[in-house]
Amino acid sequence: MRPVTYLALIRKKPIKEFLVEKLGEEALILIEILYKANKFVSEFTLAERSGIYVNTVRSLMYKLYEHKIVNYNRQREKTRGWYIYSWKLNPEKLVSHVIKLISDKKKELEHSLRTQSKDEYFYCKKCDVKLQFAEAMEYNFSCPQCFEQMTVTSPVKENKEIKQQINKMDKKITRLEKVKKRLEWMEEKRREKERKRRAKEEAERKALAKKGMYYCTKCDHAHKKKSKIGKKHKKHAK
Ligand SMILES: [Zn+2]
Ligand SMILES: [Zn+2]
Repeated sequence: MRPVTYLALIRKKPIKEFLVEKLGEEALILIEILYKANKFVSEFTLAERSGIYVNTVRSLMYKLYEHKIVNYNRQREKTRGWYIYSWKLNPEKLVSHVIKLISDKKKELEHSLRTQSKDEYFYCKKCDVKLQFAEAMEYNFSCPQCFEQMTVTSPVKENKEIKQQINKMDKKITRLEKVKKRLEWMEEKRREKERKRRAKEEAERKALAKKGMYYCTKCDHAHKKKSKIGKKHKKHAK
């Protein structure tokens, strides 16, 4: 499997459409920064790097958070006591959300296919008005809104178009599912790396413990006495 680059992700048309249409062009810039960072980024850093006002950043992040496309953590700023929010992108959730939007539309179309009557009807394309034969006859087969002549349309022809649309949606979903799988694979690989790093640290700690020493993460230093851990760090801070 290949990793998904930011460009590969954003070139998927439905994803770009979702971001631009629902959230605006600015969302693309923020998604790019978050995707490449792959960690929590504070809203001030986001504002600084994107040139977008911090309030706009925040409101866009809230919108993404509604669909769990981003996660956040917050830290209290010491001097002023307010909260600083940091955001992390969840790319799989972004793709899942877009898949869901397409699936919902697809279900609507499938429903209309099932519930549609088999009879021919009269249709005005301009006004999107549909009339059954008896009704259309009352209006002398002209549109009640624009008075243009209505055309006879068979559901068969219309259904063919709907089926084509459903087909296209299926293809989009399949492509997005593949991207999602690759993103999940990337995340799994990242976690595996993190697990290995922790295991290595743990092994080093145990090796020290065997020698009767204790590893102190605060100062990245081994101590002979356990009681020294977490204490008197100023002494060996240099
Ligand atoms: Zn009309
Ligand atoms: Zn120490």
